[in-house]
Amino acid sequence: MPAVASQPDRSRRALLRGAAPASLVRPPGAVDEALFLDRCTRCDDCVAACPEHVLVRADGGFPERDWQRGECTFCGDCIAACDSGALLPLAQQPWPWRAAIGDSCLAQRGVTCQSCREVCPDSAIRFSPGNPRPLLDTLRCSGCGACVGVCPVSAVVALRVTSEPASAHG
Ligand code: SF4
Ligand code: SF4
Ligand code: SF4
Repeated sequence: MPAVASQPDRSRRALLRGAAPASLVRPPGAVDEALFLDRCTRCDDCVAACPEHVLVRADGGFPERDWQRGECTFCGDCIAACDSGALLPLAQQPWPWRAAIGDSCLAQRGVTCQSCREVCPDSAIRFSPGNPRPLLDTLRCSGCGACVGVCPVSAVVALRVTSEPASAHG
């Protein structure tokens, strides 16, 4: 797991306890993986419904979230398009992913870059005067993923969190 470039605090540590690096990322509202594979009919309706084009048809024909494609706005169109029960409303199945910034970040190495901060719709990333490290507030972060694809050195990754704050999108 990469180092998370934010100031340590008790609530953030609690949030990230049990976090795992991103591997398989289903669309918002996806039920547990075994049930998802059972319910999803691979119809592509969620992929077609996404106005941000951040979902793709991936291995086995099942849909996945592609972090390189930018921000998920949590509009819910993918969930509304799904008739199979594989995707549930976010109030029932909150989005479990959050961003984390690793040590390859250019700003930490003296290169001017604030791309992740500039695209973050939740002001979850900030820079303090005199501190080149981007600070990520995981309690503000919605896991929208805008910062992941924009980073020129792939320093921003998504982590699955098992201990959830109250969802801002539920
Ligand atoms: S919630 Fe909206 S933006 Fe996010 S993946 Fe679904 S359709 Fe796309
Ligand atoms: S976009 Fe990437 S390299 Fe730039 S400040 Fe953010 S984490 Fe660092
Ligand atoms: S995932 Fe979205 S909300 Fe979280 S830090 Fe990145 S841009 Fe901001």
